[in-house]
Amino acid sequence: MNCPYCGFVNAEGATTCASCDQQLPAAPPPPPAGYGQPPAEGYGYAPAPPPPAPPAPPAPPAYGQSTYGQPAYGQQGYGQPSYHQPAPIKNHLVMAILATLCCCVPLGAVGIIFASQVNSKLAAGDIAGAEKASKSALLWSWLAIGGGALIGIGYAALVAVSVVADSGF
Ligand SMILES: [Zn+2]
Repeated sequence: MNCPYCGFVNAEGATTCASCDQQLPAAPPPPPAGYGQPPAEGYGYAPAPPPPAPPAPPAPPAYGQSTYGQPAYGQQGYGQPSYHQPAPIKNHLVMAILATLCCCVPLGAVGIIFASQVNSKLAAGDIAGAEKASKSALLWSWLAIGGGALIGIGYAALVAVSVVADSGF
C-alpha cells in the first residue's frame, strides 16, 4: 500500500512504511484517498472537486408571464381592440377570392360580395347580419369550388370523349 506520508509503495499488510518508518493506517486504505493526503502521491490522480451543480433554469413563471401570458400580446395578435369582439366572425374573403380565381368566377364573385359585407356589417354593429353574410360567403365559395370542379370534370369528360372519338375512327 502507498505510504500516506512519503508515497512509498509498501508491501500489502505492512504496518510501518519501509521508507519513512511512519505508522501506516490499517489496511485497506479508506476509499476517499484524495482527502487529507498529499496530492503528489504517485497516483497521477488529481482530486478534482465535483463540479458545482448547474444553475437551475430560470423559474418558468417569470418567463411565461413576460412572453406568453400578457394580455397585450393576445390582443395584438388576435382580438383587435377596435372591434371589441370575443369571437371575430370570419369573412371568408380569402376563400371566396381563391374560389373565384381557381374555380368559377360568377359563383365566387357572389361569395366575395358576401365576404365584403361581413366587415361592413361588423363595422355597423350588425352582428347577426355579419354572421349571415359570413355563412353566405362560405356557401357561395363552396358552390364556386363545386361548380369549378364540375366544370373541370365536364371539360375532362369532353376531352376524353373527343380523344376516344378521334382514336375510334
Ligand atoms: Zn513512508
